[in-house]
Amino acid sequence: MKVLVAGGAGYIGSHCVRQLLHAGHEPVVIDNFVYGHRAALPAGVRLYEAGLGDAAALDRLFAAERIEVVMHFAAYCYVGESVTNPLKYYLNNVGATLTLLDAMRRHGVTKFVFSSTCATYGVPEKMPMTENLPQAPINPYGQTKLDVENLLKALATADGLSFASFRYFNAAGAAEDGSIGEDHDPETHLIPLAIGAAQGVRPTLQVFGTDYPTPDGTCLRDYVHVDDLSRAHIAVFSKLTAPGAQHFYNLGTGTPTSVLEVIRAVEKITDRKVPVKYAPRREGDPPALYANADKARKELGWKPKFMTIGPIVETAWRWHQAHPRGFGR
Ligand code: UDP
Repeated sequence: MKVLVAGGAGYIGSHCVRQLLHAGHEPVVIDNFVYGHRAALPAGVRLYEAGLGDAAALDRLFAAERIEVVMHFAAYCYVGESVTNPLKYYLNNVGATLTLLDAMRRHGVTKFVFSSTCATYGVPEKMPMTENLPQAPINPYGQTKLDVENLLKALATADGLSFASFRYFNAAGAAEDGSIGEDHDPETHLIPLAIGAAQGVRPTLQVFGTDYPTPDGTCLRDYVHVDDLSRAHIAVFSKLTAPGAQHFYNLGTGTPTSVLEVIRAVEKITDRKVPVKYAPRREGDPPALYANADKARKELGWKPKFMTIGPIVETAWRWHQAHPRGFGR
């Protein structure tokens, strides 16, 4: 398949580009490099440097390439920033996505794979989380993703768009060969911050909240390897054959892991101490989020290779050891 990867130079997108090549598909990348990294792209991959809000650039791209499927990873993803600057999130995560979907329609591209999030559920009423739980996001980031999901449903009915929306839990880890990995600026995610603190290239790690109603008092999350996420994006192609097909899948291992367990895994694998400071809860953090991903297992045959935090942290450590300052800016 010839696949347009929007945001292909970002964290999850770049891992997916490699998995697509590995599986014999032909990725074409569009990225504006606001958050993406040129060094995350394999040599020779076709690249369009443009934002998704640029309808003329999209027209040129779709006219030049016979794209069969669009995968859309290009979004802003800082929950806190989405609260303080919601317009930035709506303009990009919703607005630019509208321009992309409109261009697809003009050019007759009918298959779409969307990066959604468990943040669309808000504070879930039961655990582990299945796809049919009510979706009630508690921040603009989650709301923008839910808005796009709702639009996709309408387009499936009206235009016959075939789509899959993947609700990711906590994407983590790095390519197994250590060549690419997680590099956000600013970095807010637990695993890279904990590894950076262990390496001495980042400050003391703050543990946000130790009084949650969880076994050790810290938040439980479901860390899922970025290559496992990528593999689901390819497995879903077989579900996009019928016009108007619509599919929603949670992607997580189903293994709840606490903040302290992540820290212990980082200390074990790096053989270094993670300097820690206990801090108050971070606003907007639900106590526990973990997936029931049976639907993806059954319908896509998706079986995560990385089921526990240790091997996931090992891949992240390999990447951070080789690139202590990320891709380099
Ligand atoms: N966390 C933490 N200290 C940090 C960053 C994160 O204690 O410096 C906690 C956070 O409160 C959450 C978990 O680690 O419970 C995962 O946070 P992350 O930002 O990596 O992902 P999120 O779950 O917010 O998508």
